[in-house]
Amino acid sequence: MATARKYNVEAVFKGAPKKSDFKIVEETLPAIKDGEFLAEAIWLSVDPYMRLFVNSSNVGNTMFGEQVAKVIESKNENFKVGDYVAGMFGWRTKTISNGDQVRKLDRSVYTDDKLSTGLGILGMPGATAYIAFLSICAPKEGETLVVTGAAGVVGSAVGQIAKIKGCRVVGFAGSDEKVQYLKSLGFDEAINYKTMTSLKETLEKTCPKGIDMFFDNVGGEFYDTIIPQMNTSGRVAVVGCISQYNLENPEKGPRLNPSILAKELTIKGFVIYNHLPRWPEAFKAIGEWIEKGQLKYNETVTEGFDNMFDAFSGLFTGKNTGKAVVKA
Ligand code: NDP
Repeated sequence: MATARKYNVEAVFKGAPKKSDFKIVEETLPAIKDGEFLAEAIWLSVDPYMRLFVNSSNVGNTMFGEQVAKVIESKNENFKVGDYVAGMFGWRTKTISNGDQVRKLDRSVYTDDKLSTGLGILGMPGATAYIAFLSICAPKEGETLVVTGAAGVVGSAVGQIAKIKGCRVVGFAGSDEKVQYLKSLGFDEAINYKTMTSLKETLEKTCPKGIDMFFDNVGGEFYDTIIPQMNTSGRVAVVGCISQYNLENPEKGPRLNPSILAKELTIKGFVIYNHLPRWPEAFKAIGEWIEKGQLKYNETVTEGFDNMFDAFSGLFTGKNTGKAVVKA
């Protein structure tokens, strides 16, 4: 019988997540039954959405989340010992699964050095960047895109896809190092939002022809300031609002409807798990762009299962550039 270590949720987050909101416990797993397999975590994902979706029903249960794992025992003919899979197994070292909603990773794509991309650029966040940007922002050559949270896995991919489509790209991120990183990816303008003086003036300067597309990962002041500066028929993808996730009391924003109405803006929310059929198309296109050197990605690796909380909380202080992953 195998023993797993896992993070139980101890309390619903209040403000910024605390280490004491989790507890690491051991669990003895039963023997696998016909149709099941046992998988061992290799890479675990920490994502901003985790902050949003923990509620009272999670307390006492394993923290949810995706991981890349290796099949180490199997009584399921579709998953052989030695296969690698991506599944929503949670923050745990070993998992028994029946294979439902588990992605088997194609080893010609997810080679040893690229296994972690199954959680990042060739996983849920990469699919988010591709599907949300192309379907909502519908880019046209020569148009201007503003992307917030630009140095994260989603934002950095969106900016590069926009460059591939011939757009002008302006990205906001939270440090000078991240600004340099975005410039190295080909962003036309990259701005450290923590040191700029005025967002409105920065936008006027960096977007002389106005803003046609806004891919928002951050919300809050960015959203409130950018919407009135959009061009007529502008498109806005509301994909994340990380600036709001840790707030105990929701902020009140300005009233934006006159701008939305007069400029005939299209503003659309997006949930990646409602677009599962398009994931393979996204991975194929992104894979080809990576192959051709048109799209680059970065990962911030935290070593050790015991350090998952640090990797998670680092998302809210800007510790990561690109995808934050934990090496089990
Ligand atoms: P990121 O790596 O971009 O998220 C972490 C980054 O967000 C940090 O490094 C930090 O960068 C920035 N950040 C944290 N707090 C703030 C703040 N208060 N104000 C401004 N920036 C902040 O994550 P992803 O690329 O994985 O995701 C990007 C966004 O997309 C998230 O909001 C996420 O929730 C959302 N998302 C939505 C999906 C959907 O289906 N709708 C699917 C996947 C992701 P910095 O140093 O620049 O501040």
